[in-house]
Amino acid sequence: MNLDADQDRDMELGQEEAKAKAQSRKKGNGKRKVRETRRFVSFPHVFILTIHREFGSISALFFSLSRLQLLSLAWTKAAAQTGAAPITFVNEVDDEDGPPDLGFNSNSREDEFTYLEAKPRTFLKELLNPPDADMFLRCNCGEESDQDSDVDMEKSCGVSSACGCQGISELVDRYKKPARAYTEDGLFKFASRSKSGIEVIECNQYCNCTLYECSNRVAQRPRSVPIEIFKTEALTERASRSSKRGWGARCTAQVVKRGTVLGSYTGEIVYRQTANLLQGNHGTYVFDLDGKDPAEDNEELNENVQIYSIDARKCGNWTRFLNHSCLPNLAVYSAVWDTIPEQNIPHLVFFALEDIPKGAEMTVDYHAGIPLPREGRIHIHRPPDTNKCFCGAKRCRGWV
Ligand SMILES: [Zn+2]
Ligand SMILES: [Zn+2]
Ligand SMILES: [Zn+2]
Repeated sequence: MNLDADQDRDMELGQEEAKAKAQSRKKGNGKRKVRETRRFVSFPHVFILTIHREFGSISALFFSLSRLQLLSLAWTKAAAQTGAAPITFVNEVDDEDGPPDLGFNSNSREDEFTYLEAKPRTFLKELLNPPDADMFLRCNCGEESDQDSDVDMEKSCGVSSACGCQGISELVDRYKKPARAYTEDGLFKFASRSKSGIEVIECNQYCNCTLYECSNRVAQRPRSVPIEIFKTEALTERASRSSKRGWGARCTAQVVKRGTVLGSYTGEIVYRQTANLLQGNHGTYVFDLDGKDPAEDNEELNENVQIYSIDARKCGNWTRFLNHSCLPNLAVYSAVWDTIPEQNIPHLVFFALEDIPKGAEMTVDYHAGIPLPREGRIHIHRPPDTNKCFCGAKRCRGWV
């Protein structure tokens, strides 16, 4: 490469100069060698200084970044490409070098896992192309600046009854009036255990408003909360043998305020029928896209309406590590902005149900639609293909 570059440069030089240069090249140009050597030396020099401090040993150089560190670097880099906060992996419990099947280990089916921070992928034909522009609902907020009205609010889609995107929303306040999904600070307003199945229609690329000014675009902003994937400690000796809680997710950098939106579940979009065939551990990475339990679907299954699930075995993001709890501190709502509601592929968006202290494990209820037993009781009948639940909540179904 250096030679080619030099030859290009020669074209621009006078012929004599070029000749002289060519001769010195034949003789062996010391100058160039020196330059190359210096470059080669300077790189590891910096490397030694930074790594040395961390490991206290020069022999730990280059090839000895642990798998946990490699995963942290790779996932943080992929997240950063979408503007999202870092993701790190830690294990303070035992010597497992990270969750299985994510790559960077010569013995595993490496590199088959793809990190997708914000958007699921799909190979289904009908979903490959986005709907035409005229299929999208869009608002006129900010288009006509009316002196009498609160122009700023309209510009930022702050008046839900005036914003066309929020017009078909079913969200209402306690007086049954149309309500915005988010507060001025971008917190989800309906952070309550009793409300499930909420769908939010956010503004989209065809609206006039912008990502950070519009109060109706929160789930589509990059995740601002840094996440740590950590090896969980089993709750009890007994649980450690059978609960298999494995790795979990938490935030050690800050308190996560109630209503904070944390990002959406990603993976591969597959037909529900395909997802239902996945069993055991494979099935644990599947999230159904309408948020309903599969058992409830069959009756309303209209033959013309396709329903989907997201499978996060081979691609996905940090949310695949969220463990189950019958009384979780996170929950999910659906949000639509880059597709149309009729496609049935909303984003599944995680938000905080309560203020989550620094370092507390984040959990979600895998069976949010199924009622909990009264305090002190557990369901007697454990459905087939379920495991015993060790969430430790006061109200626990007893299975997961
Ligand atoms: Zn609007
Ligand atoms: Zn809009
Ligand atoms: Zn808007």
